[in-house]
Amino acid sequence: MGKILVTGGSGLVGRHLSKYLPDAVYLSSKDADLRREDEVRRLFSTKWDRVIHLAARVAGILDNRTRPAEFLEDNLLMNTLVLKYARESGVPRFTAVLSTCIFPDVASSYPMTEEMMQDGPPQATNFGYAISKRALAAHIDASNTQYGTSYNYLIPCNLYGEFDKTDPAKSHFVTALITKIIKAERDGSDHITLLGTGKPLRQFMHADDLARVIGQCTERDVTQSFNVAVPENLSIREIAEVALAATGNEGLSIEFDADGPDGQFRKDVSNAKMMEVFPDFQFTGLAEGIRRVYSYYKAKDQ
Ligand code: NAP
Repeated sequence: MGKILVTGGSGLVGRHLSKYLPDAVYLSSKDADLRREDEVRRLFSTKWDRVIHLAARVAGILDNRTRPAEFLEDNLLMNTLVLKYARESGVPRFTAVLSTCIFPDVASSYPMTEEMMQDGPPQATNFGYAISKRALAAHIDASNTQYGTSYNYLIPCNLYGEFDKTDPAKSHFVTALITKIIKAERDGSDHITLLGTGKPLRQFMHADDLARVIGQCTERDVTQSFNVAVPENLSIREIAEVALAATGNEGLSIEFDADGPDGQFRKDVSNAKMMEVFPDFQFTGLAEGIRRVYSYYKAKDQ
């Protein structure tokens, strides 16, 4: 498989990926600030056989909503510089990880297919992040057209897992939910409070599943681009109910702070293209994944 560089290697996905590609080089922002051209140029003075570009400024809805310009600038800079220097230095394989946040806020049909990515504006709460990722998809497609490269991108649905951020302003819904359940247990509370109405629909996948897909794409030299998403599309309330049952907390009630943001109502994507490539792929069930992540954070809480 050669010499593999993983940007964003210290994040949620990178840490799961290191189980499947243990010999790759995993970078954090401390190794190189990928918004800086001099640092990216220095990185590509080494010859890499493959780049897996995970690095991004990633956060939950609150942070994305208040700092859209920073999310746009930081991600545009990182993505543009990493792809440009990878291509100019002749890296043969480049895989970027996008996100289903980039799909239109409202689509003509669901689940959405890869071709629908640019069919309408993305949701306002993550506009900057989404546009930067759409630009990366366009940059990869343009590079393949103009330079004949075989670069690709994977578009995963929402993730959760061990090694996620737990700061409430930055965390993702399922990880935040699990940490709220653990806090309610610790405080002897009879309820948890979730932001929004509980009605939006989401596909939530364990980050280990995405890591396995990236690992298998690398081993089999897959160069197609496709969505990576679980088939289930559940409401926020249903996901919370699964989490309470999976952690033995059926007695906790769920309260919704309807003044909090809901975000996009639905953004479910089709995984049909991925299942053509990996027909036997088994996703981690939501209850099983939540149990694992709950055990991890519970042990850290002791
Ligand atoms: P994460 O946990 O927030 O990790 C982000 C990674 O990017 C970290 O390694 C971070 O380094 C690095 N990074 C951030 N700013 C950087 C900079 N200026 N220079 C260099 N490195 C920088 O993110 P993740 O959840 O693993 O996400 C990985 C990829 O999957 C991202 O492209 C994200 O957009 C995508 N994705 C994530 C989700 C999700 O729900 N988490 C869903 C769909 C797609 P430090 O550790 O040093 O900060």
